[in-house]
Amino acid sequence: MKILGIDPTHCFIGGRWQPSQAGETLELVNPSDGSTLCQIAKGIADDIDRSVEAAQAALSGDWGRATAAERGRVLAKIGQLVLQNIDELARLEALDVGKPLTQARADAMALARYMEFYGGAADKLHGETIPYLDGYTVYTLREPHGVTGHIVPWNYPMQIIGRSVGAALATGNACVLKPAEEACLTALAFAELARQAGLPDGALNVVPGLGAEAGAALSHHPSVRHLSFTGSVPVGKLIQKAAADNVVPVTLELGGKSPQLVFEDADLQDALPFLVNAGIQNAGQTCSASSRILVHESRFDDVVAAMAKAYSALRAGPALRDLNVGPLVSRRQKDIVESFIAKGKDLKIVSQGQVVDDAPAGGAYVAPTLFANVTPDHVLAQDEIFGPVQVVIPFSTEDEAVAIANGTPFGLVASCWTKDGSRQMRLAKKLHAGQVFLNNYGAGGGVELPFGGHGLSGHGREKGFEALYGFTSLKTVAARHG
Ligand code: NAD
Repeated sequence: MKILGIDPTHCFIGGRWQPSQAGETLELVNPSDGSTLCQIAKGIADDIDRSVEAAQAALSGDWGRATAAERGRVLAKIGQLVLQNIDELARLEALDVGKPLTQARADAMALARYMEFYGGAADKLHGETIPYLDGYTVYTLREPHGVTGHIVPWNYPMQIIGRSVGAALATGNACVLKPAEEACLTALAFAELARQAGLPDGALNVVPGLGAEAGAALSHHPSVRHLSFTGSVPVGKLIQKAAADNVVPVTLELGGKSPQLVFEDADLQDALPFLVNAGIQNAGQTCSASSRILVHESRFDDVVAAMAKAYSALRAGPALRDLNVGPLVSRRQKDIVESFIAKGKDLKIVSQGQVVDDAPAGGAYVAPTLFANVTPDHVLAQDEIFGPVQVVIPFSTEDEAVAIANGTPFGLVASCWTKDGSRQMRLAKKLHAGQVFLNNYGAGGGVELPFGGHGLSGHGREKGFEALYGFTSLKTVAARHG
């Protein structure tokens, strides 16, 4: 199998496709049927070392000398190439992640948008002049950190690469990217498109491999000056410890248990598609998935009945069939999600979607599952399941709803469904989340919207203009001229 003409058993280092120093490969599995998709490079610490050296060389060469406008232009060109190859990128992501084709295509579109957005923003970021003492002129410079490390998970490879690598390149950093071992084909395709767009050698390096090898080597590398990680809480803690050892900044995006609050005055018809889709998109393997639906007791039965009906119509099947839900990314993830569903045996499953009859036996399918009358402290209402599972929880007062919503260790996203403007404003302030949506969920996921969490959801912000600040370091210059 070739990826845009390149051999996926290679790493992309210093602008060239080359085998891993270990000379070994890993198997990439198609989660829709369990077959082998292809082999990928098993990158090791040596490959990370060579990538960091290539990135340093880029910073002291063409890439380091590029103007902000030139950086923007090359990002915009990558965006154009992404659009020209959108069908192939969507197909690769669908095969690799198991994502229904329409959702994979939306991710490729988002990758193009990140390149357009950060390409356009590259020459809009600037420092300030600061009024100071007589005889002084003081100004600030926003400078790149240098070599940045990007450790990316398997659930949204294109979107996460777009938001983190896009912002890092726009601000003049040189990147080393370690995609997930479960899904890395679009990371390789992205590198090839960046090469074709004329990104200077070494500005982007991609080393597929295992987290504990290539990922750990990248996070501990003493010459990496910023780390950006999206993934699980335990690995996020390891990354933060590695960053502490080298005293470098780190952005962590670690998932959530995001609630939607449905009040007595909510427009149910309007809310219903958001309530369900936010839980089952990408088979629930979304950091900002809405896995908890909190409903005022007066509307509880109506909401549960409407969601149950919607669930019974859901179909799960192979990614290229483009149904509501694809397989989970792996048999391992399927086992994790099924063990959570088993923990709900004391609860009532109110509705389940169906895995289509002819779904391949080797696929990692889980029927979307809805639980009702769940208590806020139940494991299904507290832990991130990362599968197509939602729980519905009743509440009787606004204060109780806020307490339940804020009653997990996470704080990524929250949404409220109410027509009461004062309540909207109150809750927007009270909810512990990096993004709050009023009468919607996700707002279409726009690349313009800063994103990140509190607590176990992580810290730092990606997406939007805000991310550019995180990928730069501020220098204050004070000139005394009399
Ligand atoms: P993970 O955290 O193990 O992997 C994410 C990335 O980190 C991958 O690229 C992996 O290779 C790398 N990695 C793993 N161990 C590492 C280490 N010691 N040092 C450096 N890098 C390392 O996540 P996972 O195993 O893919 O998924 C497990 C759980 O994590 C999921 O069930 C879900 O709850 C959560 N998750 C969250 C997100 C999110 O978007 N927040 C994404 C994926 C997974």
